[in-house]
Amino acid sequence: MSRVPEVAVVGAGIVGLCTAFALAERGTPVRVYESGVPGHGQSGGQSRIFRHAHDDPRLVEFTREGRAVWDEWAERLGAELISGDGVVALGGSVPGRLRILQEAGGIPARSVDGAELHARMPLLADYSGPAMLDEGGGAIRTRAAVESLADALGDAVVSDEVISLHPTGRGTVEVLSSVGREEYATAVVCAGMGTARLARTVGLSLPVQPAAHVRLTFQVRGAPPERVACLQDSSGDFGEVGVYATPYPGNSRYAVGLNETVEVREDGSFADPRALVALNDRARAYVSRALPGLDPEPVEYLHCWVTSLPWSEDGMAVWEADGIYFAAGHNLFKQAPRLGRALAAAATGDGLEENLRPTAALGRQPG
Ligand SMILES: Cc1cc2nc3c(=O)[nH]c(=O)nc-3n(C[C@H](O)[C@H](O)[C@H](O)COP(=O)(O)OP(=O)(O)OC[C@H]3O[C@@H](n4cnc5c(N)ncnc54)[C@H](O)[C@@H]3O)c2cc1C
Repeated sequence: MSRVPEVAVVGAGIVGLCTAFALAERGTPVRVYESGVPGHGQSGGQSRIFRHAHDDPRLVEFTREGRAVWDEWAERLGAELISGDGVVALGGSVPGRLRILQEAGGIPARSVDGAELHARMPLLADYSGPAMLDEGGGAIRTRAAVESLADALGDAVVSDEVISLHPTGRGTVEVLSSVGREEYATAVVCAGMGTARLARTVGLSLPVQPAAHVRLTFQVRGAPPERVACLQDSSGDFGEVGVYATPYPGNSRYAVGLNETVEVREDGSFADPRALVALNDRARAYVSRALPGLDPEPVEYLHCWVTSLPWSEDGMAVWEADGIYFAAGHNLFKQAPRLGRALAAAATGDGLEENLRPTAALGRQPG
């Protein structure tokens, strides 16, 4: 068995790729194990929303710091990673979220009237309730992010499945993969749906809740608008209280999903097998009511697994056992560069940030 003085990262989703890139920034040799294709687990598909608005002010601050890392890396990688078209939010939660953003300071978010809303979100039907614009948010160019990070990491990303991890008792970690057995200084597990299973091999029971999610993509009618914001709609005015939507690069397609997910049992089966179909139908019905700028016939479907933590749909945390780190949470795409830097710091001996410890429950609404 060879001894390699480097860090093993398990999973080449956006969190693993960002962690490995942040380790490389520190000059730490790294190997990333990926059992499938980089960026095709929960990080699959085109486009995600980068938004600052969260219920937990600590998470607002974390996200603000994260935006700076995205900008730094976009420059270094020579790619646009977040659009400049902002995020609009609709509904009764707007005043509270706006207050949190304003209290955080330095985040360009403000309420908008109907005319500005139409200019920013020309695909939307008439709406006159509370609305805000997060100008520092935008659509994450997911494919550009995954591809440019994977390219920068080159041969450090290997196609191999990690079967188990073992602390050696010498302060190192042994990684048993499909075709290998290696010893590392430490390991960082960012394996999405696979994280809780690997954590059990070192005696940790993570409260990760798996669920199934639906997102549909629609063609914009006519010429693509020059500018189009991402959308978060909790208004109920169009028959749903939790919808998000985000443009593809070029603005000719728009992806729409309900925040609601479908519960799955411990063995991965559905408690209600028809629930996923029902979510599809509701997303289509929402588009015909709320988004007349889209052709209501979907052109793409994304059915996928998501993992979340019990305290919030934006919750995230990092567990540690015997020098091995396990990252879990939901809505992590926007957080990945900042989280990756925190994981790289922890894995190289700088300690884990207090806010990321499970006891901190980052993302939980205060009070
Ligand atoms: C449709 C959809 C919309 C979303 N919208 C947003 C949004 O707007 N904004 C936002 O910030 N977030 C959003 N999210 C959430 C975000 O995309 C995920 O939280 C994020 O992509 C998770 O990345 P990850 O790297 O942790 O996990 P994953 O992308 O799942 O990566 C884990 C990787 O580990 C690999 N793996 C697993 N087990 C092993 C093993 N044993 N050995 C080797 N490799 C292994 C898997 O193959 C996979 O590639 C959305 C998610 C979905 C699905």
